[in-house]
Formats: sequence, structure tokens, C-alpha cells
Amino acid sequence: MLTALTKTGKKICLGFEYRKDTLMSLRDKEEFICPVCQERVLLKLGDQRIFHFAHKLGGQCREFYENETYEHLEGKRQLFQWLIKQNIASVLEYYDRNIQQRPDIMFNYNGKRYALEYQCSTLPDKVFTKRTSTYLENGYIPLWILSSSHLHQKRKDLITLSNFQYSFLRTASSGKLYIPAYCPEKQIFQLVESITPFSIKNSFAHLSSLPIQSIELDSILDPQNDHPLTQARWSKEMEKYIFNWALHPRAEHKPFLQEVYNQGLNIFLLPPEIGLPVDHSVLIQTPPFIWQTYLFVDVLAHKTPHELITLKEIYTSFQKRISKKQIIIRHLPQVKNVNPFSVMIEYLLLLEKFNFLTRKGDMIFEVQKKILFPHTNREKEEAKQNFLVQYENMLTRS
Ligand SMILES: [Zn+2]
Repeated sequence: MLTALTKTGKKICLGFEYRKDTLMSLRDKEEFICPVCQERVLLKLGDQRIFHFAHKLGGQCREFYENETYEHLEGKRQLFQWLIKQNIASVLEYYDRNIQQRPDIMFNYNGKRYALEYQCSTLPDKVFTKRTSTYLENGYIPLWILSSSHLHQKRKDLITLSNFQYSFLRTASSGKLYIPAYCPEKQIFQLVESITPFSIKNSFAHLSSLPIQSIELDSILDPQNDHPLTQARWSKEMEKYIFNWALHPRAEHKPFLQEVYNQGLNIFLLPPEIGLPVDHSVLIQTPPFIWQTYLFVDVLAHKTPHELITLKEIYTSFQKRISKKQIIIRHLPQVKNVNPFSVMIEYLLLLEKFNFLTRKGDMIFEVQKKILFPHTNREKEEAKQNFLVQYENMLTRS
């Protein structure tokens, strides 16, 4: 850890720049105490690691704070210095005795209190969720920053994200969802933005790198960038994914494939309108082509032109699939203000843009034409090409 008290209660914070000889003479005349457990701690001034305090062996709160890696110590020190350089009131390793939590940095900004956690090791989901909700219930805005070493970019616009990494997902004021990460070695922030998953783990995303020296807090709290993904790129990757998925189905996928088969549909001949990217699809863990197929099977397939679809019908189908665990909502501890059902509405609005539906009121859509399943691979290819042309036109119009 980087903070300790002297016997007289003076706080020593190694987040500030100290010279080694200053600290050495301080160590000669002072004893240091852990602000959490009040036990004696030692000031370590080795050349290998950054200067830090350490409990003696067998201390009670050792476990909490001392499996700290170099990366974690250095990361929080850099983040702290970055904040104070911007004149943001910040406390390193702030211990809140009421909630018995100790964010790496507590800071106040624009009248709000933030708890910054820079996370290098994986945390069990339960612990992450508990800490986050305790912050929220006690007037803190949690700001979890992931260590960049956890980000695994597959290709330029593709990234693999686990549930642990998804728990870092937070909402910008624009409503956009993103994951902030930091690398102390390169001294850069990385933002994972425009996350559009096509499977449980794999997602299209834009990864931007921002040197800590040249950016301010707002760029991390409220990134404004938009990085739209091209439909052609999406549909190519989606097709490949569905093909492999259906060719080598896992045991848990069998009921879905059985249901598709029972409906007389062919998973290899999905129309281009099923499996589309929508803005907030990250809220749903189930791949888009699966939940969109369920919506088709439950509601859209039974409607003929001029019939009405109510949001209640859509909602009933959605809830039924959730209760059967056929649609899984992603667990996102920091995202509280977006309802996963809005993803269904986004999809319907997308279908409206392609003239399948027309919105008739807050709760009602009218069917304009049916979504048709192709009968052959050739038909499927034609449908896809037509769709891509329409999509391009739609983008240029909007
Ligand atoms: Zn302690």
C-alpha cells in the first residue's frame, strides 16, 4: 500500500513525489501505522519495486491489501498523480470506515464523489457486485478501471471479453456503454467502445489508446466517440460464426436447434434480417441471432401484412425465454439505467427502417411484409446482397 500514518497521526502518502533520502531519514525517526487496522507497517524503499508500506508477517489486514503487484501499485500511483495534476480533490487508498471499503482513489468531481478501483487481478463476481452496490448505496459513483493486460484484442475490430471484463462496462452521459482500462507501463488509457457482441465472448469493438499526459478526466468519464461498424463486416463475421456454431453444436444449444427444426426452419438458411447488430445488444448475453430467432418464432412468424404487433406480445415472449434461461441477460453491476427490453425495441425499430414494420404508436407496430426464409444457399446469398445494398442506402439517407 501507499499510505500510512505516523505515531502522531500524520498521513504519509507515497502517491506524492518523495525523494528516497527524505523517506530514509523519515524512516529512521518514525514508526508507521496502517490506517485500517492500526498495526505497525514497514516502509520499503527497495530499488526493485516502487516505494510502499507493508504489514509485518501475520498482520490481520495483510490479505486485503498486500497481494498488490507492482502493476497495481504503480497504476494507482499514476492515476492519483494524474488526478491531482488536474486539481481534482483526491485521496489515495481512502478508507471509508462506515462501509469498510477502501477504493484505490476517492475523488470529488463536479459535485459528485467517485470511488476509483484499478483492478489488475480477477475478482469473483460476487465481490465485484457487492463492492459496487455498496458504493452506489453510499453515495459514490464507482469507476472501475481494468488493467490493460486483461484486454485481448483478436483483430483490429474484434475483441474477446469475459464476464469479468464485462463487469467494467459503464455508461457515459450520452448513454453509450464502454470499458475503461489503463496500462501503467505505457502510461495510456484504453477505452473499449462501440461494443457490439455477436457471441457470448466475441464482440466487435473499437479500442482507442489515450496517453495519460494528454487527456483529462472527462475523456474517461464521458467518452463521446462513435465508431459505427459496417454491416458488410458484421454480416461476414456473423455468417462464419453461425455456420461453425450450427456445425458443432454444444449440448446446451441442442434445444434451440431442435426448436428451429420443429418450426420447419433451417439454421443454415437464416434470412439477413435475423442476427442484426443493435445499439445496446451488449445488455443481452445470448447471441443476437438466437434472441432474434426466438422473437421471430414467437411473434413475427405468425403475423401477416397489416396485422398489429403489440409491445406486450414482444415482452411476453422475451420474459418467457428469460424464465426458461433461453435468453440470458448480462450481469452488469455498474449499468443500472438501461432496461434490457429496450434492446428488443431497438431491433423492431431497425426492422422498421427496412420496411418490415411501421410504428403505429408507443406500444404498437404494424406488419408491412413478412421476413422470409430463403430456400437455397443461392437465395440466401441474393437476399444478403440485396439487404446490404438497402443498408448502405439507409445509412446514406440517415
Ligand atoms: Zn492494516
